[in-house]
Amino acid sequence: MPTSVLIIDDSVTVREQIIRTLESFNLFSRYHEAEDGLEGFKKLLSSPVDIILCDLEMPRIDGFKFLSMLKARPELQDVPVIILTGVNDRERKIKGLEQGASDYITKPFDRDELVARVKIHLKIKKLQDDLKRSNELLLELSNTDHLTGLFNRRYMMEALDKEVQRSVRSGGNLSLIMLDIDHFKLVNDRFGHLQGDVVLQRVALQLQKELRSYDCAARYGGEEFVAILPDSPLKEAVLVADRIRLAVQGTRFNGQLSPLCLTASMGVACFSNEQSVTVDGFIKQADDALYRAKANGRNRVESHDCTDLTRGC
Ligand code: GH3
Ligand code: MG
Ligand code: MG
Ligand code: MG
Repeated sequence: MPTSVLIIDDSVTVREQIIRTLESFNLFSRYHEAEDGLEGFKKLLSSPVDIILCDLEMPRIDGFKFLSMLKARPELQDVPVIILTGVNDRERKIKGLEQGASDYITKPFDRDELVARVKIHLKIKKLQDDLKRSNELLLELSNTDHLTGLFNRRYMMEALDKEVQRSVRSGGNLSLIMLDIDHFKLVNDRFGHLQGDVVLQRVALQLQKELRSYDCAARYGGEEFVAILPDSPLKEAVLVADRIRLAVQGTRFNGQLSPLCLTASMGVACFSNEQSVTVDGFIKQADDALYRAKANGRNRVESHDCTDLTRGC
């Protein structure tokens, strides 16, 4: 990956010396320069860098102001800043470090020391970036159902809890769809477990396709799926559920699975503040409606208000 550095100093000579030194060690593929904190900040926003060398004393926006501007931008906080100070600048070195600089180099600088310090901070930055990426990946994996790529039940319960709280605060309509594939055991028995997995993946895709970007689709377990629909009244959620039902019913499979006619049943509930329903109670409402959809013949959508809304042919 190309590495880039930003050098901020009001002295052209200092900037040139630093660039020449770093170039001779082949440390970077891109060099950005700025003559004060403001120009440096603007350059940083347009092209992110891996490390910054910043003078303290500059006209207009000095090094300290620059450091406080960086602090205000969370996305820039991990970029190491090495401040350039005078030899006898003890107080200002401390102040700069306290304000978020990672290190300092005294001017006139020693070439080998400059390079050694830059290398150390690039190494730390890389380790931090790797760690951040691993943590993000871990978080994603811990929230994801590995077979379908949808969110898993654990994440779904957290998301539902948050959405219920939000709905209590804002009074918005929050709907929940519970989907269960009909006679899925027979699919496994007829085509084998691996083909059954393919069917689960297809249903997950269908479900996701019918939802908006801010809805949340999750695999609840086995052949059961859940969709959380914020800001959706019951009527709207039932229409969405019926679209999903039709999409599942219309799925055409290839190869071994081509004779398969798949259907799913769904239960829909809308969160009600007035009835002070708990999260578990809310799930039970959707689950009870799903149970009714099964009992009433499958390939159907039933909702918590007990109205028989739609039926497959
Ligand atoms: P119903 O219409 O009443 O829902 O009938 P069903 O056969 O779908 O329901 P049942 O609960 O009897 O069977 C669910 C089946 O789902 C049984 C189980 O082996 C299968 N199953 C659960 N998880 C997986 C999985 O990850 N992959 C596959 N292939 N099958 C699974
Ligand atoms: Mg200066
Ligand atoms: Mg089931
Ligand atoms: Mg089932």
